[in-house]
Amino acid sequence: MATPAEHKTVQARNLHFDSGLLSLDRRLGDYVIVHELLHFPVPNHGKLWKSLMRAHLGDYELMGRRLRRGEAQSA
Ligand SMILES: [Zn+2]
Repeated sequence: MATPAEHKTVQARNLHFDSGLLSLDRRLGDYVIVHELLHFPVPNHGKLWKSLMRAHLGDYELMGRRLRRGEAQSA
C-alpha cells in the first residue's frame, strides 16, 4: 500500500497527448505513449529505460528514427 507521500506523487503525474497521435502509424503512436509512460519509473534514457523500451516495443530505435525523419503518417 502506498504511503501518503507516494500517493501524492502518483496523483501529481499526468500525461497529455496531442490528438495528432491518432493520425500516426499505430506503432509510432505506441512508441510515443510507451516512451512517456516509462518516464514514470525511469526519468532518463539510460540502460534501464532502453531495456524496457525494447521489451515493450522491439526495435524502438528504428521507430524513433522514423519519427525524427517525419515518416510518422499512417499508410
Ligand atoms: Zn524521454
